[in-house]
Amino acid sequence: MVTDTSTSSPDGTGLRGTPVVGGLAYGPALVIRTEVPAEAVERFGDGGFADEAEALAAYDVAVEQVSSGFGAKAASASGAAAEVLTASAGLARDKGLRSAVRKSLRSGDDLLAAVHAAVEQFVGVFTTMGGLMAERATDLRDIERRLVARLIGEAEPGVPTPDRPSVVVAEDLAPADTAGLDPAIVLALVTERGGPTSHTAIIARQLGIPCVVGTAGALELDAGRPLLVDGTAGTVRLDADPAEAERLVAADKEERAALATWAGPGATASGEAVKLLANVADGPSAASASGAPVEGVGLFRTELCFLNRTEEPSVEEQADIYETVLAPFKDVGYVVVRTLDAGSDKPVAFATHEGEENPALGVRGLRLSFDNPGLLERQLDAIALAAERSGTETWVMAPMVATVAEARDFSAAVRERGLKAGVMVEVPSAALLAPRMLEVVDFMSIGTNDLTQYTMAADRMATDLAHLTDPWQPAVLQLIAITAEAGRLAGKPVGVCGEAAADPLLACALVGMGVTSLSMAAAAVRQVGARLGTTTSEQCEDVAEAALGADDPAAGRAAVLEILAR
Ligand code: PEP
Ligand code: MG
Repeated sequence: MVTDTSTSSPDGTGLRGTPVVGGLAYGPALVIRTEVPAEAVERFGDGGFADEAEALAAYDVAVEQVSSGFGAKAASASGAAAEVLTASAGLARDKGLRSAVRKSLRSGDDLLAAVHAAVEQFVGVFTTMGGLMAERATDLRDIERRLVARLIGEAEPGVPTPDRPSVVVAEDLAPADTAGLDPAIVLALVTERGGPTSHTAIIARQLGIPCVVGTAGALELDAGRPLLVDGTAGTVRLDADPAEAERLVAADKEERAALATWAGPGATASGEAVKLLANVADGPSAASASGAPVEGVGLFRTELCFLNRTEEPSVEEQADIYETVLAPFKDVGYVVVRTLDAGSDKPVAFATHEGEENPALGVRGLRLSFDNPGLLERQLDAIALAAERSGTETWVMAPMVATVAEARDFSAAVRERGLKAGVMVEVPSAALLAPRMLEVVDFMSIGTNDLTQYTMAADRMATDLAHLTDPWQPAVLQLIAITAEAGRLAGKPVGVCGEAAADPLLACALVGMGVTSLSMAAAAVRQVGARLGTTTSEQCEDVAEAALGADDPAAGRAAVLEILAR
């Protein structure tokens, strides 16, 4: 049993992790171990291939099987799940990976060793890139396990379908594991590794399954042990009384069912309006978000349209793409378009600088325009064109702004085109300078994902640092409060568009600090809206004070929950 008090819940009878999808669940633990059986690997040995060509042919067959498996799962999934599975199917077939396997075979490795060496080489590259790319390391290791299983004639590892409703406990889950999960039988997810932006978290959010990640000691739990998982508090209780647990879960279900009917617009229980907006990536996600109870888009991540492009699209082509995002919101509200946030975890071939030592602190976001001003000018022209054609109110903001001069220059370029200009607050300097930034821009939008990473000096994707990359960290909240207060004094909107906005408890605290809009995945809007709708503005201020004054994220969440339960 687990006794590490640093990770156990306050009464010492449970575990604590990072909460990513709220809700309560109670059920037996289904502990997943995804290794391929060691005896079978040993039996297979070097595979007895006649030569390198024969071994490579076997590799190609296994790749085809694994990749089609991902493809089939993608076809029966939707949304984020389908996207990550399709990406895994492509990654399994990657030519670079195959070349690395062949090179290793040539140097005398047997096939399994060659596959392992190739995967490790790519894991190393992705990990060095950091950010979203580092997340691909989990996918690659999953691909390796599947390839090895296919090569040695075993079934591919994965999450077995539980024979009764269960809480799935695993080290970390790969897209293929999480995508096929049936929320009717998988009650909750608890992983030992993974952070708030891991695939486990993204897919759990889509499926609406309570989820706690980064839960130290989870793998040591006994199979079948009843667990009470609280995806809001980030706790896993081991000693819950079954009748009491069932009652709590039933009450929670009722509360969540009520959320589904929330129809907007966003406001506190005392009637203070809070704009709830959607984060979108392209035309299809914008079209679908326009059906949610939102008042517009608070973050259109334009770089996500160009991740696979080697050449910069023309102004006309960009305008066409942007118009597909703007048009669905013509009669709904405004759209905040973010200029290219290429670089670091989102390499865009035609924009990013190659070979940076430390890309997260390098030439990313607005900084790309310093030595390539035309790139920004052309994008702004395209946005202005799309705004004009669609007739949708369009605001434009820059990512990774650090100085007032940057804000001033950007703002001038945007206003020249008749659009509203803003900057993101992702670098602590932007928060500290918020009053001066607001003299030169029309609005600010706080990107809590990067603001947390840069405030805490912790890579946002580092699974071992999930306790630091938590927007409930009081230092991060201080910077948000400074920015929101500057907005209030200037009479200009200050929103939050990072993941923090999707956390219903934190959303109340953000509103209490003076934030005027919250932008999030469309799937999260109802729960945030419903929570705000039952919380008065005064309670929001109290929870803001409690969260700001807490020693750490866990204490902040506990204090806020207590205030809201009164
Ligand atoms: C953020 O940093 O919080 C943000 C919204 O930008 P992205 O997640 O795209 O870096
Ligand atoms: Mg960011």
